[in-house]
Amino acid sequence: MSTVILLLGGNRGETEKVFQQAIGLIEQQIGLIQRISSMYKSPPWGFEDEQWFLNQVIFVETTLAAGSVLEKTQQIERDMGRKKKTTTHYEGRLLDIDILFYDNVIISSPNLTIPHERIHLRRFTLLPLHELTPGFIHPVMNKSIAELLKECPDESEVKKL
Ligand code: AMP
Repeated sequence: MSTVILLLGGNRGETEKVFQQAIGLIEQQIGLIQRISSMYKSPPWGFEDEQWFLNQVIFVETTLAAGSVLEKTQQIERDMGRKKKTTTHYEGRLLDIDILFYDNVIISSPNLTIPHERIHLRRFTLLPLHELTPGFIHPVMNKSIAELLKECPDESEVKKL
């Protein structure tokens, strides 16, 4: 059994509901949800996107290999996008799921990098991670989440809801 740490992100439509549905699908298809962080809200990066982003980190216990987790998360992203598209106008992505960590495993393949490449660069990733597991050691950077947060160059506003 492995623990995979996922980051949910979205800024289109009713993101809280989208996350709830996604968490249900993740539990059915990937494994038992062990922990869920608070939601964190951050300003959009692009000028065209007016809605704030929401992010949430979840821990999932799984028997799937990391590559299979990626297939499942990509399928869930597509399924959620398709559902929404039929009811409202849908631009951009309704749901983004990043694999942050898979135990202490390091993977560098063309379609999958674990730990996720940008964990240490983004407060919207580090803050929910820090809420759940401040002492977890990033297996590539050999630093705790608390240390990475302290050193993070990102100064953008991220609010815990
Ligand atoms: P994005 O559009 O930023 O969500 O990136 C999606 C692409 O990133 C997909 O083609 C994945 O194969 C690739 N990818 C590489 N590493 C990861 C990871 N740790 N979690 C999610 N997607 C990843």
